[in-house]
Amino acid sequence: MSFTSLKLIEPVMKALADEGYTIPTPIQKQAIPYVLAGRDLQGCAQTGTGKTAAFAIPVIQLLHQQRKPKSGIKALVLTPTRELAIQIEESFSTYGKYTNIRHTIVYGGVSQLPQTRALRKGVDVLVATPGRLLDLIGQGFIRLNELEIFVLDEADRMLDMGFINDIRKVIRLLPPNRQTLFFSATMPGEIEKLAGVLLKDPVKVEVTPPTSTVDKIRQSIYHTTKADKPKMLLHLLREQKISTALVFTRTKHGADKVVKFLHRAEIKAAAIHGNKSQNARQNALNDFKTGRLKVLVATDIAARGIDIDELSHVFNYDLPNVPETYIHRIGRTGRAGLNGTAIAFCDVDERKELRDIEKLIMNKIPVVEKHPFPGNPVVIEKKAARPRHHRYRQHLN
Ligand code: AMP
Repeated sequence: MSFTSLKLIEPVMKALADEGYTIPTPIQKQAIPYVLAGRDLQGCAQTGTGKTAAFAIPVIQLLHQQRKPKSGIKALVLTPTRELAIQIEESFSTYGKYTNIRHTIVYGGVSQLPQTRALRKGVDVLVATPGRLLDLIGQGFIRLNELEIFVLDEADRMLDMGFINDIRKVIRLLPPNRQTLFFSATMPGEIEKLAGVLLKDPVKVEVTPPTSTVDKIRQSIYHTTKADKPKMLLHLLREQKISTALVFTRTKHGADKVVKFLHRAEIKAAAIHGNKSQNARQNALNDFKTGRLKVLVATDIAARGIDIDELSHVFNYDLPNVPETYIHRIGRTGRAGLNGTAIAFCDVDERKELRDIEKLIMNKIPVVEKHPFPGNPVVIEKKAARPRHHRYRQHLN
């Protein structure tokens, strides 16, 4: 199935052709026709599935096709983090470049002046994080009374980050006659309840990242010690001539320590995490995308939603406590059909985490036994992990 059968307008088709997109992803295939038909949508999908385009494309098309003169904000996309907000706005620029849709973005942690200036010029689509949105509404810079489409992105993450009350406040300000698109990677009880309040007779769409993504990734594990992890990383970066690597640490402090170590070895690296200013995070991300930085060290929350094309290596410098996080992390590489490499370090205190991950993916991650930093020789379990459940496999099918 190609984009042609989705009945998209010429300006959108042209923009997609510029991007080299020919085939819609499963969520795009399932969601776009219903959104174009004006239906509410409950989408269970995470980053990497093409969900941004699944809502941005039809929103652009619906607004472009409106003949009536535009005045107020017609569509609002609410998303939890500044990084996600920036990426979503970029998507509206990309897919809407041959339309006259005006869009802008508001998020906290930076001066509001450029944002209020942009708002004054008139906006059709506003992408926002909750705190700054409410702030600017309070100051009278934003009114939502003409809103026609509301998109709530990453609802579960909003809940995790403590935004639920802010969301409730925003919801109270929305006109009741509107179309609502609701996206969440998971649907715990409280999120279902929120969806129930927000959506009218929604179409439900559920997708998970394709198996091929994970299958295409070359995974390996290096048993080492906590103290040797920095040297291990440096050794692999040099030995394997790695050009770009995203390195995940468990803590912000850990991320900073890795960056300091790499700097001492004259490797260009930067950290992104919650303690960094918005500008520092954005600069680091841009430098990484343009190749000025070789290594980006991130914590999970900061990295969520970060989308880097052609990322060759992901390091699990520390193993995550939640096994699903491992899949999210390694899914950053091997995108768009490219081969990726995921390398994990495991110290003696992380064996349980490793066992949990292997149970979840129902596979043993190959162990690289010959390397310079094995620490105390470890007893490597030879027996294959026996899957306790089939949750992951079911997700993939
Ligand atoms: P998302 O899940 O929205 O973060 O999108 C993941 C990545 O897939 C982004 O880099 C998009 O640019 C890319 N993408 C989205 N839709 C398509 C498509 N139909 N064909 C190829 N790439 C796509």
